[in-house]
Amino acid sequence: MIPLLLTLVAGPSRPAPKPRLVVVITVDQLRPDYLDRYRPQLKSGLAMLLKQGAVFTEVYHDHAVTETAPGHATILSGRWPAHTGVIRNFAGVQDSTTSLIGVTGIGASPARFRGTELFDWLKAAEPAARALSVSGKDRGAILPIGRAKEQVYWYVGGVFTTSRYYADSLPLWVRVFNGERVPFRAAGTQWTLFLPERDYPEPDSVPYENQGRDFVFPHRLPSDSGQAALAFIATPTMDSLTLAFALEGTRALRLGVRGTTDLLAVSLSTTDYIGHAYGPDSREIHDQVLRLDRYLGRFFEQLFVRYGGSNVLIVLTADHGVTPFPEHSRALGRSGAVRVTPDTLIQSVNAALDARAGGADWLVFETGMLMVPGRARLAAQGINVDSVIADVATRLRRLAGVGRVDRPADLAADSADPTVRRWRHQVPPDAGVELVVTLKPYSIWGVANLPIAMHGQPTDLDAHVPLIFWGQGVRRGVYGTRARTVDIAPTLARLLDLTPAEPLDGRPLTEVLP
Ligand SMILES: [Zn+2]
Repeated sequence: MIPLLLTLVAGPSRPAPKPRLVVVITVDQLRPDYLDRYRPQLKSGLAMLLKQGAVFTEVYHDHAVTETAPGHATILSGRWPAHTGVIRNFAGVQDSTTSLIGVTGIGASPARFRGTELFDWLKAAEPAARALSVSGKDRGAILPIGRAKEQVYWYVGGVFTTSRYYADSLPLWVRVFNGERVPFRAAGTQWTLFLPERDYPEPDSVPYENQGRDFVFPHRLPSDSGQAALAFIATPTMDSLTLAFALEGTRALRLGVRGTTDLLAVSLSTTDYIGHAYGPDSREIHDQVLRLDRYLGRFFEQLFVRYGGSNVLIVLTADHGVTPFPEHSRALGRSGAVRVTPDTLIQSVNAALDARAGGADWLVFETGMLMVPGRARLAAQGINVDSVIADVATRLRRLAGVGRVDRPADLAADSADPTVRRWRHQVPPDAGVELVVTLKPYSIWGVANLPIAMHGQPTDLDAHVPLIFWGQGVRRGVYGTRARTVDIAPTLARLLDLTPAEPLDGRPLTEVLP
């Protein structure tokens, strides 16, 4: 049962006391239409937020590359990728100068992140403030906190860990939690439907889901414990484990009980894995959202037992949405929906440049951005880089599914076109981005020929996210105001009476303020 916090409707005159804990939940790849579609079946945490919170229905990421790292960097900084410097996904946090603790894997840090975030403003006002950030993914844990060396953990192959950017060893509470070996012990367990089968209107047997394998319930984890721990991140239980880890961390770190306001950031990764594999119209995503609702309910209950409901401020949003499988779109009559894979084109240009200027990946292409990091070296060898890029642009325009190809410098500042605006918010002038490519609606970037659903476009499908504020001092209601994810941090700054340390791209959503 979720306690009904009727006291939330506070009188308008008195400023609300500061919360002891600010909880920011980012659900990776949560489209807001899921909350409408499954609304009657949501009974717990999501239902509480929807019923008692300030619910914004028209909130969009206002940058072009709607990927995990740029999205997470935006939410608590109040600034677009053009200003945070986090413009790519994996490369947004990968850092070969640091390493993980206790496990092998790619090191990660906020080295590319520029500027400050909400936690820095909180720390400036309350030097004793602490932050804990946890996620299934490195970028989901690192980027909500910015550059601060706080408690930041993510999941790698069965355990939560961090990188040497943050610490030299794992604290006892993390080692004890990992010692439970929950993901390893899940070997051979099944993911079954949460509700009776008749409660799921969507078809289960859809042969293009999950790369054509294991696309019907129940889904079973491998019987080998190591393999199970790797696959665990894509199961609903992973979100439950992440929330349990977050709760354990708040206890061990004594968050919210030392007279300051502390920050807990939780990024829940499972919805993204399931959305990529099975798509936004699948029975699997439906079941995942129902389970997420129940996990969040239990999580909130335990926070309320510890802190009292009136001492917790909750925000829920997402780092991006997702576009349906092209197969699904074509079945609905959108015959032009395709996966666009420019790999062969880029490889052939790189091969030609290698022959003239020596071996290197001269052109780098990722999620619609063409970068030429070695431009100066190519030019020094007498290569006309502008003409190479112009040729690549011509060839990209010929690919089925490509809508437009622009040079960032040609994107007009005063354009009323949302695509142009989102690209301008995406690309820092010094990032070396030479071309930006936008696909036609419902087409997606192909990833290594994997037949998955994708996000990453400057479209409303990928940019539209939920946004709910919940807690004392928040004016509950449903708001249809068009807002952006860069508005979240300035709104929290107002609610917490903090001063941002630099100019922000967003504005406070004054609708929610008392
Ligand atoms: Zn994501």
